[in-house]
Amino acid sequence: MTTKPLLKVKGLKKYFPVKKGLLAKTVGYVKAVDDVSFHVNEGETLGIVGESGCGKSTTGRMLMRLLDPTEGTVEFDGKELTALSSEEMRKTRRDIQMVFQDPYASLNPRHTIERILSEPLLVHGVKSAKERKEKVHQFLEIVGLSAYHAKRYPHQFSGGQRQRIGIARALMTNPKLIIADEPVSALDVSIQAQVLNLMQDLQQEFNLTYIFIAHDLGVVRHISDRVGVMYLGKMVEVAESEALYAKPLHPYTQALLSAVPVPDPNFSKEEVFLEGDMPNPANPPTGCTFHTRCPFKMDICSQVVPQLTELEEGHSVACHLYNETSDNDIKKMEGSLYAKG
Ligand code: SF4
Repeated sequence: MTTKPLLKVKGLKKYFPVKKGLLAKTVGYVKAVDDVSFHVNEGETLGIVGESGCGKSTTGRMLMRLLDPTEGTVEFDGKELTALSSEEMRKTRRDIQMVFQDPYASLNPRHTIERILSEPLLVHGVKSAKERKEKVHQFLEIVGLSAYHAKRYPHQFSGGQRQRIGIARALMTNPKLIIADEPVSALDVSIQAQVLNLMQDLQQEFNLTYIFIAHDLGVVRHISDRVGVMYLGKMVEVAESEALYAKPLHPYTQALLSAVPVPDPNFSKEEVFLEGDMPNPANPPTGCTFHTRCPFKMDICSQVVPQLTELEEGHSVACHLYNETSDNDIKKMEGSLYAKG
């Protein structure tokens, strides 16, 4: 892994218009992604975590330009993706691939696995049928399946095998970046570990960079080098994985972690519970959008939007609890919430 950024995202926004009436007049916007910035270094895995509706999948789709951003920039490997023509973007998609949550929905049920895996090769100009077939067989073996599976159809595979096929399809064009959107959420827990291990092995073998999107901090823990936590379209905390799990700073991250079982019996943590449901993104709360559910809410929280600020090297948080607070006060707060017992 290097510290050279492969992807730099700045001020990314996606606002969906809310229309009403016969004339479909725009009466407001759903701010699905609202001013999100982050980077991913070559060879690393960035986990993006948050509840459903927080904007993590919309962010993933904008990086592939499956959705056009309302505002913001996405620089991939030195190229500004938002400025590329559709033809240039088609060529660039060779280097950025996506693995989806539901492999069954993303694999055409009428096509054989050979045809499904050959398609990306055809699109990117591999003309020789023999070469395509060889590559399909090679990648089936790489993801733990066999060449004889090539003639079968998606319904003839288990969920875990289908996700292996989804991963093989993403690998066919030798990409640099894979955006995996909840790739194991639909699988049994026992199969999840196998697919995660496979993804880690492939990362080493092919020097891949991953963005791993999940709703559960437990799933991304072992695969991510860094983790970004999103809430209602905003990034509220970003840190190296170890730092985030050892001392989460944002109350929302603390609440998400309270829901994750801790394997260390010597580690005691005070639990932070979420109050209420995620607010309507078409009508988000003022100030800190988390204030309607936050157990530490202060007066300022409903009035002023907290900015994502780096508190320690590589650890940023958007929360007024840490504004103009001394290091000692911060340590006291961490100590009380996440104490080694
Ligand atoms: Fe809670 Fe206020 Fe921090 Fe928001 S800014 S997370 S409401 S303490």
